[in-house]
Amino acid sequence: MPKHMGGMGFRDLRVFNEALLAKQCWRLAVGDDSLLHRVLRAKYYPKCSFLEAYRGGSPSYTWRSIWAAKSLLLEGLRWRIGNGRKVLVWEDNWIPCEGFIACPSTDKEFNPDLWVHDLIDEENLKWRNEIINKMFSEEAAHRILAMPLSFQFSDDLIQWWPNKDGIFSVKSAYWLGKLRSPSICKIFDENHMNDKWWTMLWRMNIIPKLKHFTWRACKGMLPTKETLKRRHILNDDTCPRCKQGSETAVHALFECQKCRSIWNNSEFAKVILDSPSSSLHDKLKWVYDKLGEEKMGLFLGMMWALWTCRNKVVVGGEEQWWVYTFGLGVSTYKNSSPSVLKTEI
Ligand SMILES: [Zn+2]
Repeated sequence: MPKHMGGMGFRDLRVFNEALLAKQCWRLAVGDDSLLHRVLRAKYYPKCSFLEAYRGGSPSYTWRSIWAAKSLLLEGLRWRIGNGRKVLVWEDNWIPCEGFIACPSTDKEFNPDLWVHDLIDEENLKWRNEIINKMFSEEAAHRILAMPLSFQFSDDLIQWWPNKDGIFSVKSAYWLGKLRSPSICKIFDENHMNDKWWTMLWRMNIIPKLKHFTWRACKGMLPTKETLKRRHILNDDTCPRCKQGSETAVHALFECQKCRSIWNNSEFAKVILDSPSSSLHDKLKWVYDKLGEEKMGLFLGMMWALWTCRNKVVVGGEEQWWVYTFGLGVSTYKNSSPSVLKTEI
């Protein structure tokens, strides 16, 4: 508590420490060439970037500490578009506006593998207005078209959105950390007062993409039919696959006919059967309590794979994608995943 409110003027040391560690994360993410970076890269992520790195099975104290602050860094990162080749339209954070998530304006335009590069007319150095206006809501299109493009078409760069200059600072990281600390969350949402699920999720040893996907899904940001109807983009929220009921996130990932048969044939059949369906958040929290972290990684990998399959089917209508994408999706969750691939589809 600050002095003027009767406190002693001390900072929240836990959050302050996390912000200091997030500074190390930032240096690793932007590829600084310090000795620490070279040592960590050689040991923990020789073939990928820091942002894509895993925690690994037996991390050193230093790596474990840095890893713990990575979630704070991820929350403050946003891409600055150069040539758009590193940034996925529907997955990455790239449209300037705090908490803004791109959502397709019609489901027909939804291609999950679309790169920002596909929205740029490189020859004439401009955004492809027509596609963007057709594909995005008015507000999103406006924000995208207002973004300047660079003449050099340099690489896409990550920047730190809490600061105007895009450069990380401990002060702003501390502010961001305070915003998500339990005492502040309590003010925003009493129900989540003792919710350790988010902390667990961000600390899990799984690929960052999976964490981001799970977070978006729980926050109601996946472009299911129900979400699109809620945002007044569609009139009808009927599930495009089974045509039985509204396509909520829980339906799309667990209750739709094909998903149900996949889960029923997996090692998670029993836990799913007993879990609540009130919301995806409730369901995942419950499942996490039953499974623990190790199994939960695989569970979330399956969930992501099912969403990817759903998109392939809804966009392309190709049923055979199920088998292929499902195997691919599950195997990417942590480089390997033996058991679920045996699942009969
Ligand atoms: Zn369905």
